[in-house]
Amino acid sequence: MQAYPLTLTNHLKRARAFFPDKQIVSKLEAGVFRYTYRDFAGRVAQLANVLRGLGIGQGDRVGTLAWNSHRHLELYYAVPCMGAVLHTANLRLSRDQIAYIINHAEDKILFLDEDLLPLVERLSLDSVRNFVVMLSDPHGTVPTTSLRPAHNYEDLLRSGSAHFEFPELDENMPAGICYTSGTTGEPKGVVYSHRGLSLHSLALCLPDAFALSERDTVMPIVSMFHVNAWGMPYAATMVGAKQVYPGPHPDCKTFAELIQNERVTLTAAVPSVWIAMLAELDRVHYDIGSLRTIASGGAAVPQSLIAAYERKFGVPIVQAWGMTEISPLATVSRLTAAMEDWSEKERLRQRGKQGRLIPGLEMSVVDGQGREIAWDGRQSGELRIRGPWVADRYYKGQQFADGWLHTGDVVTVDEHGFVQIVDRTKDLIKSGGEWISSVALENAIMAHPKVLEAAVIAVAHDRWQERPLACIVPKPEFRNLITKEEILEALRSHLPAWWLPDEIVFIEEVPKTSVGKFDKKVLRERFKNVQL
Ligand code: AMP
Repeated sequence: MQAYPLTLTNHLKRARAFFPDKQIVSKLEAGVFRYTYRDFAGRVAQLANVLRGLGIGQGDRVGTLAWNSHRHLELYYAVPCMGAVLHTANLRLSRDQIAYIINHAEDKILFLDEDLLPLVERLSLDSVRNFVVMLSDPHGTVPTTSLRPAHNYEDLLRSGSAHFEFPELDENMPAGICYTSGTTGEPKGVVYSHRGLSLHSLALCLPDAFALSERDTVMPIVSMFHVNAWGMPYAATMVGAKQVYPGPHPDCKTFAELIQNERVTLTAAVPSVWIAMLAELDRVHYDIGSLRTIASGGAAVPQSLIAAYERKFGVPIVQAWGMTEISPLATVSRLTAAMEDWSEKERLRQRGKQGRLIPGLEMSVVDGQGREIAWDGRQSGELRIRGPWVADRYYKGQQFADGWLHTGDVVTVDEHGFVQIVDRTKDLIKSGGEWISSVALENAIMAHPKVLEAAVIAVAHDRWQERPLACIVPKPEFRNLITKEEILEALRSHLPAWWLPDEIVFIEEVPKTSVGKFDKKVLRERFKNVQL
């Protein structure tokens, strides 16, 4: 067979040739912007010319600090297809962390959305030679800024020719880089190759993954600055799907309106977004009947959430598990044909698991003694993964020792091969030498009708070393109308008595990380002196 290189340039050429009239929609502060793949491909070529004119060559890093928009999509293709490396910096990291990752990646140019100018002006950046501002009003001018030189994205594009001879690339060349969200230590860079992203795009489109096709209208809510928005923009472009981007500072109203008005069929976000959306959909009537699938992952999806969307709107939430280091998709929780005959309760329980490994990857789950665990749904161990879209090192770091990515996630595997995350190694609660799963406790608490969100952490205990503390956010209508005792009572029927939290605190909000996951580090610090 031919050693034909798998590159993102193939997506671009295909989209331009086969789907010139399909739409890309982007909500900007100035209003909804809409254009076609034909226009998109032309602007990608213009952008590639601009990058070359600004001195960007093969392997150079090009940074972005940007929301989900058509311009970010243009950068997703122009940068890697001209041979450079797209570094999507996470705008929700702390200022120090943002400066750290841009300096560590040695970005030569930084593309930023207009509203992020004040943030970037306060960063101390070593390598950036040019700033390019993406204005909300395409005909506007760049505001006065201390950043120098600061170009206007649209002016630059107008100056670039719409013809660009994209170079032949080696499929193993780096295409992108994303830093882990850094809840412990400094963020670490993960480099994605053209080959990895191409194979990941194909895998995402498999029927038992997310089945993307030309017929879909795809709206990635998950940020384009975090793990390539789960690869959705690349897969959607490859198959020629209509794409919808919710723009800067998006909120639930914007998501719901875009789903309704653009007839979105597939959308993706972390569970906290779907929890908040449920409240918006309960408050105002929107027609979300076009949705065929909601993809959710990044954190455990409560069964109660899956059930609520199913019952109220008939929309399946399909859970996936992945990591920055895995591009990110690794497992998807889709029922097999035989499982469709199971009771509703059993089906829900299965969908609440993280699912089965998608084709192309290999997994191994080993216990504390390094032994492979049995697939019995009871034994647990650390999940390890390898495959063509799995990182083999961190940027500027050493190759991982044994050829496997050690995920730090503790899982069980049932007889059907469905993985269930029991916990992060560091989030497990060790009580008297036995493990308590904080995830299982959170799921059980969040199933309570008066509870909006819950996070469970370990607190030091004289006798048992650690005991669980539950931090609960009541639904607004039940604030002050919920008691610790009724929560404990509800848990008693599902969980062993020794798992029950020793203390329950009601809080306003669960602190979130830069990518919307529960930030237990903050809660641990806040409640470290609680006496149990
Ligand atoms: P990140 O690299 O920031 O995307 O974080 C990856 C980590 O998020 C994984 O190692 C898991 O601990 C967690 N995670 C991702 N997806 C899920 C999921 N569906 N359920 C539970 N945890 C998840």
